[in-house]
Amino acid sequence: MADTIPTKSDIFCSPTADLVLRSADDVDFCVHKLILATSSPFFDDMSRLPQPATASADPSAAPVATMAETSRTLDILLHLVYPDKHPAPFSLLELGRVLKAADKYDMDGVVGQLRQLLGLPMYVQAEPYRVFALACQYDLGDELIKRAAKNTLQCQLPHLTYPLTAPPELVDLSALQYHSLLTYRDRCLSALATMLYDTARNKGALPPSQAPISIQPIWVTCSCAAVSGVTDWFRYYVENTLASLRSGITVEAIRSVARVECTLTKIPPRCKLCATDGARDLLRFIDAAAAKMEETVVRVEFSSMKVEQI
Ligand SMILES: [Zn+2]
Repeated sequence: MADTIPTKSDIFCSPTADLVLRSADDVDFCVHKLILATSSPFFDDMSRLPQPATASADPSAAPVATMAETSRTLDILLHLVYPDKHPAPFSLLELGRVLKAADKYDMDGVVGQLRQLLGLPMYVQAEPYRVFALACQYDLGDELIKRAAKNTLQCQLPHLTYPLTAPPELVDLSALQYHSLLTYRDRCLSALATMLYDTARNKGALPPSQAPISIQPIWVTCSCAAVSGVTDWFRYYVENTLASLRSGITVEAIRSVARVECTLTKIPPRCKLCATDGARDLLRFIDAAAAKMEETVVRVEFSSMKVEQI
């Protein structure tokens, strides 16, 4: 097979360039050693190596460094390195590849820019698992890791979201980090279960604006309430809500009219009090619980698991 003739980048083609980066797919980027050296110890060391003397100003005479990255990755990377250039929008997959290169070449400034970009809703809200994986792998700081972890709460578990092919970022997510995420999710669900039952048992179930503070919901006051403090039909409602929250912690999971209707069919026919007040109190309870959901989740801290020392 004949050798491919390298093409030239349209953007990085300055005649004053003194180094050529040749991408894995044979595109030449004519760059300036000084700019690369100020953003990367790797390129700083490279620029100190003795170079053959040349009197030519032609970048084609500049030394060529063969790179492992594709032209797309180098193009974005260099746009982030050069102070007067800004890259066009790129996908999370492309961002991950640039991050890998920036990490490899010790480009702390570029890593910092990418960390900020990952915090944008188009990444951290749309693809929180993938951002979580990148943030853990490249140690992008607790703030981004926690933010990504919190955003994963609204999604199903990865094996449900990606039944056949997982995104590449998850390949490098360690079992320890994934375990930390699952533990955090479980702790959020536990906190929500506690909140639901606490709200159910105290007067907070009925917002003061809607009912006198002295009135407790029917599933607490009715004579059919179980020894545990609430009626069986209300417990059925909470357990079903928690099952729904396991697939995604969203307000919609709490505020389900269909579940309310289903729950009301579980009220024993012999209990007229529950049948009379059940729907009213349940709808008020949903409002109160939905309003407390966010503050309940925010109080749960995400923490990375530590390995037990034996
Ligand atoms: Zn009853």
